[in-house]
Amino acid sequence: MRAVLRAARMQRSPDVNLNLNVRGMAPSATVAINERLDEMRRAGREVFKLGLGQSPFPIPEPVVEALRRHASAKDYLPVKGLPELREAVAENLAQRQGVVRSAEQVLVGPGSKELMFLLQLVYYGDLVLPTPCWVSYAPQAQIIGRRNCFIPCRREDRWNLTPEQLDRLCREDRGRPRIVVLNYPNNPTGVTYKLDELKQLAKVAREHRVVLLSDEIYGELHHKGQHVSIARFYPEGTIVSNGLSKWCGAGGWRLGAFVFPPGLGWLRDAMAAVASETFTSTSAPIQYAAVVGFRGGPWLDDYLLGARRTLRGLGRWAREVLVAAGVHCERPDGAFYLFLDCSPLRDRLEAKGIRTDRELCEHLLEETGVGILPGSDFGRGPEELTARIAYVDFDGGPPIEEARKLPKGSTPGEDFLRRHCGRTVTAIERVAEWLAG
Ligand code: PLP
Repeated sequence: MRAVLRAARMQRSPDVNLNLNVRGMAPSATVAINERLDEMRRAGREVFKLGLGQSPFPIPEPVVEALRRHASAKDYLPVKGLPELREAVAENLAQRQGVVRSAEQVLVGPGSKELMFLLQLVYYGDLVLPTPCWVSYAPQAQIIGRRNCFIPCRREDRWNLTPEQLDRLCREDRGRPRIVVLNYPNNPTGVTYKLDELKQLAKVAREHRVVLLSDEIYGELHHKGQHVSIARFYPEGTIVSNGLSKWCGAGGWRLGAFVFPPGLGWLRDAMAAVASETFTSTSAPIQYAAVVGFRGGPWLDDYLLGARRTLRGLGRWAREVLVAAGVHCERPDGAFYLFLDCSPLRDRLEAKGIRTDRELCEHLLEETGVGILPGSDFGRGPEELTARIAYVDFDGGPPIEEARKLPKGSTPGEDFLRRHCGRTVTAIERVAEWLAG
């Protein structure tokens, strides 16, 4: 009888045995939109996938070849990562950014997302998130039960955090331990910081001794190859986050790395201790292949040149088309995102019964087949009517080859984009028509 009652209770409300922190939690927005679009496609609808932020480019052949060579590597590797890979990550940071760190200071993990989760788990303090920000930082904090603190950034500041905003927050409760997440080129805006802005932010961060987590996963996809790490200006307090997912097109391989300043070794070690009790170590063949990616060479420079040019051309063109349709949108500096502010069209949208960003994305998907994500998934208010476009629904193989052959300094124009990025071009035109209609 007791067993029957227990079974009945479990059926009545399956939620009651869930950790309070995850009760009612849905799968990550980017993953959910991707799965939904796949389902619609299977049901025979024409859909355009501008939801999930996945690199459209293939993994460079030397990296794939290294994976083939190491497919039989079967042993667990050290929890902090393969020594050659830690060395290669540190050298990469030194060569590209002039930030000198030793291999000891590198921690490798199965994706930078997992490392961020570990960081939040072991650190005792607040997580500060300038918004709009990437979809997963805040849910990770919620899972752990960490306090997070949003700083809403302004459109007038290109959605970037200003030194004044950071200073104001830190003054509210001086000395409180804080991790501030800075992500640039930014997901969802595609915008980066100017040199002077980075210097000012670094100055404030130093003054208040906050830990900066500089999420530079899109650094190598700065459209002009001019990414600058804030670790140059605040070396003692900045953790640099990077990985293979974006600049190497290998999101599904799951490999990320954090590079710590010497004074934060205690944080790295605590994260490694938790890693040793959870994922043990990152996939061995993938780590061997990643050594080749992080060491790079002329082949990687060529690959990045083609990728950057393609993204620069497509980002600029798409932004112009959308702005002409009446929305506000910053010109992207890097990555593959555009952040739309549709509030100038509020009256027209309200006439269609659209009052929130989620309704906007739903209507857009139903009426055009284009899937994008509402700004509220990135920490913005639903009534602000913002949304993110990931302009990546094309096969990046051919354009990466063609774009690098273009004359120095040139940006692919509309003909190139129609030929090589046709699905994204069609999708952007549909969005623009729908907005303007
Ligand atoms: N940070 C940002 C800003 C991202 O957009 C993503 C992935 O979309 C990640 C981190 C996670 O990357 P990884 O594949 O290394 O976990």
